[in-house]
Amino acid sequence: MTRKSTEAIISPPLHHFVGDGFRVHNFIPGIVPMHRMSPFLMLDYNSKYYFPPSVKPRGVDVHPHKGFETVTIAYKGRISHHDSTGNSDVIEEGGVQWMTAGSGILHKEYHEKEYSAKGGDFQMVQLWVNLPSRFKETSPKYQGFASSEIPFYELENNQGIIEIISGEYEGFQGAATTFSPTHLLNAKIVSGGKASFSFPSSYSTALLIIEGNALINNEEFARTDHFVLFKNDGTDFEIEAKEDAIVLILSGEPILEPIVAHGPFVMNTSAQIEQAILDYKNGKFGSIT
Ligand code: MN
Repeated sequence: MTRKSTEAIISPPLHHFVGDGFRVHNFIPGIVPMHRMSPFLMLDYNSKYYFPPSVKPRGVDVHPHKGFETVTIAYKGRISHHDSTGNSDVIEEGGVQWMTAGSGILHKEYHEKEYSAKGGDFQMVQLWVNLPSRFKETSPKYQGFASSEIPFYELENNQGIIEIISGEYEGFQGAATTFSPTHLLNAKIVSGGKASFSFPSSYSTALLIIEGNALINNEEFARTDHFVLFKNDGTDFEIEAKEDAIVLILSGEPILEPIVAHGPFVMNTSAQIEQAILDYKNGKFGSIT
Protein backbone atom coordinates (compact mmCIF):
# COMPACT_ATOMS: atom_id res chain seq x y z
CA MET A 1 0.00 0.00 0.00
CA THR A 2 1.31 3.39 -1.01
CA ARG A 3 -0.01 6.82 -0.29
CA LYS A 4 -1.86 8.73 -2.96
CA SER A 5 -0.82 12.40 -2.99
CA THR A 6 -2.88 15.41 -4.02
CA GLU A 7 -2.30 17.03 -7.40
CA ALA A 8 -4.47 20.11 -6.84
CA ILE A 9 -7.03 21.60 -4.46
CA ILE A 10 -9.35 23.62 -6.67
CA SER A 11 -11.62 26.49 -5.53
CA PRO A 12 -15.10 26.60 -7.05
CA PRO A 13 -15.01 28.48 -10.36
CA LEU A 14 -17.54 31.25 -11.08
CA HIS A 15 -21.02 29.75 -11.29
CA HIS A 16 -23.29 29.66 -14.33
CA PHE A 17 -26.91 28.64 -14.72
CA VAL A 18 -28.11 25.44 -16.43
CA GLY A 19 -31.65 26.34 -17.42
CA ASP A 20 -32.94 28.58 -14.65
CA GLY A 21 -32.82 25.98 -11.86
CA PHE A 22 -29.23 24.80 -11.52
CA ARG A 23 -26.64 27.33 -10.36
CA VAL A 24 -23.49 25.34 -10.90
CA HIS A 25 -19.72 25.44 -10.60
CA ASN A 26 -18.25 23.31 -13.36
CA PHE A 27 -15.13 21.41 -12.23
CA ILE A 28 -15.05 18.85 -15.10
CA PRO A 29 -14.30 19.61 -17.95
CA GLY A 30 -14.03 23.36 -17.18
CA ILE A 31 -10.97 22.98 -14.96
CA VAL A 32 -10.04 19.30 -14.98
CA PRO A 33 -10.17 17.92 -18.57
CA MET A 34 -12.51 14.98 -19.23
CA HIS A 35 -9.59 12.84 -20.45
CA ARG A 36 -7.84 13.43 -17.13
CA MET A 37 -10.88 12.36 -15.10
CA SER A 38 -12.17 9.51 -17.31
CA PRO A 39 -14.68 7.89 -16.85
CA PHE A 40 -16.04 11.14 -15.32
CA LEU A 41 -16.83 13.46 -18.23
CA MET A 42 -18.58 16.28 -16.42
CA LEU A 43 -19.14 17.49 -12.87
CA ASP A 44 -21.55 20.35 -12.22
CA TYR A 45 -21.88 21.33 -8.58
CA ASN A 46 -24.76 23.48 -7.34
CA SER A 47 -23.20 24.68 -4.08
CA LYS A 48 -25.74 25.41 -1.34
CA TYR A 49 -27.93 28.21 -2.65
CA TYR A 50 -31.26 29.60 -1.50
CA PHE A 51 -33.91 29.67 -4.22
CA PRO A 52 -36.88 31.92 -3.35
CA PRO A 53 -40.39 30.50 -3.75
CA SER A 54 -41.58 30.08 -7.34
CA VAL A 55 -44.99 28.83 -8.46
CA LYS A 56 -43.47 27.78 -11.78
CA PRO A 57 -40.71 25.25 -11.00
CA ARG A 58 -37.26 26.25 -12.21
CA GLY A 59 -35.19 23.77 -14.19
CA VAL A 60 -34.22 22.51 -17.62
CA ASP A 61 -36.82 21.67 -20.26
CA VAL A 62 -36.74 18.61 -22.56
CA HIS A 63 -33.26 17.80 -23.90
CA PRO A 64 -31.45 14.69 -25.20
CA HIS A 65 -28.50 12.63 -23.97
CA LYS A 66 -26.63 9.79 -25.65
CA GLY A 67 -23.54 7.67 -25.03
CA PHE A 68 -23.07 8.06 -21.27
CA GLU A 69 -24.86 8.13 -17.88
CA THR A 70 -26.05 11.08 -15.82
CA VAL A 71 -25.80 10.77 -12.05
CA THR A 72 -27.65 13.31 -9.91
CA ILE A 73 -27.15 13.52 -6.15
CA ALA A 74 -29.53 15.76 -4.18
CA TYR A 75 -28.03 17.08 -0.93
CA LYS A 76 -30.64 19.83 -0.39
CA GLY A 77 -33.95 20.40 -2.14
CA ARG A 78 -35.86 18.01 -4.38
CA ILE A 79 -35.64 17.41 -8.15
CA SER A 80 -38.39 16.13 -10.47
CA HIS A 81 -37.47 14.00 -13.45
CA HIS A 82 -39.43 12.86 -16.53
CA ASP A 83 -37.95 10.93 -19.45
CA SER A 84 -38.90 9.46 -22.81
CA THR A 85 -38.87 5.87 -21.51
CA GLY A 86 -41.79 6.80 -19.23
CA ASN A 87 -39.85 7.20 -15.99
CA SER A 88 -41.00 9.97 -13.76
CA ASP A 89 -39.55 10.35 -10.31
CA VAL A 90 -38.58 12.76 -7.55
CA ILE A 91 -35.03 12.77 -6.19
CA GLU A 92 -35.54 13.49 -2.50
CA GLU A 93 -32.92 14.95 -0.18
CA GLY A 94 -30.10 12.44 0.19
CA GLY A 95 -31.30 10.53 -2.86
CA VAL A 96 -29.48 9.61 -6.05
CA GLN A 97 -30.60 9.14 -9.64
CA TRP A 98 -28.43 7.07 -11.98
CA MET A 99 -29.76 7.42 -15.52
CA THR A 100 -28.19 5.50 -18.38
CA ALA A 101 -28.79 7.53 -21.55
CA GLY A 102 -27.16 4.79 -23.65
CA SER A 103 -28.58 4.72 -27.19
CA GLY A 104 -30.52 7.94 -26.58
CA ILE A 105 -33.05 9.47 -24.22
CA LEU A 106 -34.96 12.71 -23.74
CA HIS A 107 -35.57 14.08 -20.27
CA LYS A 108 -36.41 17.18 -18.29
CA GLU A 109 -35.13 18.11 -14.86
CA TYR A 110 -36.98 20.51 -12.58
CA HIS A 111 -37.23 21.63 -9.00
CA GLU A 112 -39.98 19.50 -7.45
CA LYS A 113 -43.24 21.42 -7.32
CA GLU A 114 -43.75 21.67 -3.55
CA TYR A 115 -40.09 22.48 -2.87
CA SER A 116 -40.30 25.12 -5.59
CA ALA A 117 -43.45 26.70 -4.14
CA LYS A 118 -41.88 26.95 -0.67
CA GLY A 119 -38.36 27.82 -1.79
CA GLY A 120 -35.33 26.84 0.24
CA ASP A 121 -31.74 25.69 0.09
CA PHE A 122 -30.74 23.72 -2.97
CA GLN A 123 -27.52 21.74 -3.25
CA MET A 124 -26.75 19.03 -5.75
CA VAL A 125 -24.16 17.35 -7.92
CA GLN A 126 -24.58 16.17 -11.48
CA LEU A 127 -21.94 13.87 -12.88
CA TRP A 128 -21.68 12.46 -16.39
CA VAL A 129 -20.08 9.02 -16.44
CA ASN A 130 -18.85 7.74 -19.79
CA LEU A 131 -19.89 4.38 -21.23
CA PRO A 132 -17.33 2.03 -22.80
CA SER A 133 -17.84 1.97 -26.60
CA ARG A 134 -19.47 -1.47 -26.47
CA PHE A 135 -22.23 -0.10 -24.21
CA LYS A 136 -22.93 3.23 -25.91
CA GLU A 137 -25.95 1.72 -27.70
CA THR A 138 -27.32 -0.01 -24.59
CA SER A 139 -31.00 0.61 -23.88
CA PRO A 140 -31.74 3.59 -21.65
CA LYS A 141 -32.04 2.60 -17.99
CA TYR A 142 -33.12 4.31 -14.82
CA GLN A 143 -31.94 3.62 -11.26
CA GLY A 144 -33.34 5.78 -8.48
CA PHE A 145 -32.40 5.46 -4.82
CA ALA A 146 -33.83 7.20 -1.78
CA SER A 147 -31.37 7.97 1.00
CA SER A 148 -32.68 4.95 2.96
CA GLU A 149 -31.90 2.62 0.02
CA ILE A 150 -28.20 3.47 -0.16
CA PRO A 151 -26.02 0.94 1.70
CA PHE A 152 -23.62 2.40 4.24
CA TYR A 153 -20.62 1.29 6.26
CA GLU A 154 -20.40 2.43 9.87
CA LEU A 155 -16.97 3.71 10.86
CA GLU A 156 -15.87 2.44 14.26
CA ASN A 157 -16.29 4.55 17.42
CA ASN A 158 -19.16 6.57 15.89
CA GLN A 159 -16.83 8.50 13.57
CA GLY A 160 -19.50 8.55 10.90
CA ILE A 161 -20.67 6.54 7.90
CA ILE A 162 -19.60 5.88 4.33
CA GLU A 163 -22.58 5.71 1.95
CA ILE A 164 -21.87 3.55 -1.06
CA ILE A 165 -23.68 4.92 -4.11
CA SER A 166 -21.73 2.66 -6.48
CA GLY A 167 -18.67 0.43 -6.41
CA GLU A 168 -17.67 -0.81 -2.98
CA TYR A 169 -16.22 0.12 0.39
CA GLU A 170 -14.76 -2.37 2.88
CA GLY A 171 -16.42 -5.20 0.97
CA PHE A 172 -19.90 -3.60 0.97
CA GLN A 173 -21.46 -3.17 -2.49
CA GLY A 174 -23.01 0.07 -3.67
CA ALA A 175 -26.62 0.66 -4.65
CA ALA A 176 -26.14 1.34 -8.36
CA THR A 177 -24.88 -1.02 -11.02
CA THR A 178 -22.32 0.44 -13.42
CA PHE A 179 -20.86 -0.44 -16.84
CA SER A 180 -17.24 0.05 -15.79
CA PRO A 181 -15.63 0.11 -12.32
CA THR A 182 -16.88 3.35 -10.73
CA HIS A 183 -16.77 4.06 -7.00
CA LEU A 184 -19.00 6.85 -5.78
CA LEU A 185 -19.11 7.32 -2.00
CA ASN A 186 -20.50 9.89 0.41
CA ALA A 187 -18.31 10.08 3.49
CA LYS A 188 -20.30 11.61 6.35
CA ILE A 189 -17.67 12.08 9.05
CA VAL A 190 -18.20 13.73 12.42
CA SER A 191 -15.79 16.36 13.70
CA GLY A 192 -12.53 14.66 14.66
CA GLY A 193 -13.42 11.47 12.79
CA LYS A 194 -11.23 9.77 10.19
CA ALA A 195 -11.76 7.39 7.28
CA SER A 196 -9.34 5.61 4.95
CA PHE A 197 -9.79 4.76 1.30
CA SER A 198 -7.95 2.58 -1.18
CA PHE A 199 -8.31 2.53 -4.97
CA PRO A 200 -5.99 1.33 -7.74
CA SER A 201 -3.40 4.03 -8.55
CA SER A 202 -4.48 4.05 -12.21
CA TYR A 203 -8.04 5.13 -11.32
CA SER A 204 -9.11 8.78 -11.70
CA THR A 205 -9.74 9.83 -8.12
CA ALA A 206 -11.06 13.06 -6.61
CA LEU A 207 -13.06 14.52 -3.71
CA LEU A 208 -15.67 17.23 -3.55
CA ILE A 209 -16.16 18.79 -0.12
CA ILE A 210 -19.94 19.21 0.24
CA GLU A 211 -20.03 20.27 3.91
CA GLY A 212 -17.38 21.05 6.49
CA ASN A 213 -13.79 20.34 5.59
CA ALA A 214 -11.23 17.59 5.19
CA LEU A 215 -7.63 17.20 6.22
CA ILE A 216 -6.12 14.84 3.65
CA ASN A 217 -3.26 12.51 4.60
CA ASN A 218 -2.73 14.68 7.68
CA GLU A 219 -1.16 17.43 5.56
CA GLU A 220 -3.47 19.11 3.01
CA PHE A 221 -6.59 20.98 4.06
CA ALA A 222 -9.65 21.33 1.81
CA ARG A 223 -12.63 23.54 2.63
CA THR A 224 -16.32 23.42 1.72
CA ASP A 225 -17.05 23.51 -2.05
CA HIS A 226 -13.44 22.69 -3.00
CA PHE A 227 -12.44 19.89 -5.38
CA VAL A 228 -9.43 17.74 -4.56
CA LEU A 229 -7.70 15.97 -7.44
CA PHE A 230 -5.39 13.07 -6.59
CA LYS A 231 -2.26 12.06 -8.50
CA ASN A 232 -2.03 8.54 -9.91
CA ASP A 233 0.97 7.82 -7.70
CA GLY A 234 -0.41 5.56 -5.01
CA THR A 235 -3.46 3.75 -3.72
CA ASP A 236 -4.42 4.96 -0.25
CA PHE A 237 -5.51 8.19 1.39
CA GLU A 238 -7.08 9.28 4.64
CA ILE A 239 -9.61 12.00 5.36
CA GLU A 240 -9.99 13.62 8.77
CA ALA A 241 -12.91 15.96 9.42
CA LYS A 242 -12.05 19.00 11.52
CA GLU A 243 -15.76 19.83 11.66
CA ASP A 244 -18.75 17.67 10.68
CA ALA A 245 -18.19 16.92 7.01
CA ILE A 246 -19.80 15.42 3.93
CA VAL A 247 -17.28 14.47 1.27
CA LEU A 248 -18.17 13.02 -2.13
CA ILE A 249 -15.49 10.57 -3.24
CA LEU A 250 -15.12 9.67 -6.93
CA SER A 251 -12.80 6.97 -8.22
CA GLY A 252 -13.15 5.22 -11.55
CA GLU A 253 -11.19 3.10 -13.98
CA PRO A 254 -10.29 5.28 -16.98
CA ILE A 255 -11.97 4.26 -20.24
CA LEU A 256 -9.04 4.45 -22.66
CA GLU A 257 -11.01 5.18 -25.84
CA PRO A 258 -11.40 8.30 -28.00
CA ILE A 259 -13.89 10.85 -26.64
CA VAL A 260 -15.84 13.00 -29.09
CA ALA A 261 -18.18 15.22 -27.09
CA HIS A 262 -20.80 17.47 -28.65
CA GLY A 263 -23.20 19.08 -26.18
CA PRO A 264 -25.40 16.35 -24.72
CA PHE A 265 -23.86 13.58 -26.88
CA VAL A 266 -20.59 11.82 -26.05
CA MET A 267 -19.39 9.23 -28.56
CA ASN A 268 -16.10 7.83 -29.91
CA THR A 269 -16.10 9.32 -33.43
CA SER A 270 -17.42 12.41 -35.27
CA ALA A 271 -19.48 10.17 -37.55
CA GLN A 272 -21.26 8.77 -34.48
CA ILE A 273 -21.98 12.33 -33.29
CA GLU A 274 -23.45 13.26 -36.69
CA GLN A 275 -25.62 10.14 -36.55
CA ALA A 276 -26.74 11.00 -33.00
CA ILE A 277 -27.79 14.52 -34.07
CA LEU A 278 -29.68 13.06 -37.05
CA ASP A 279 -31.39 10.40 -34.91
CA TYR A 280 -32.40 13.05 -32.39
CA LYS A 281 -33.80 15.34 -35.12
CA ASN A 282 -35.68 12.41 -36.63
CA GLY A 283 -37.41 11.66 -33.34
CA LYS A 284 -35.60 8.39 -32.60
CA PHE A 285 -35.10 9.35 -28.96
CA GLY A 286 -38.86 9.13 -28.41
CA SER A 287 -41.00 11.78 -26.81
CA ILE A 288 -42.11 13.02 -23.42
CA THR A 289 -45.83 13.18 -22.81
MN1 MN B 1 -29.95 16.26 -18.58
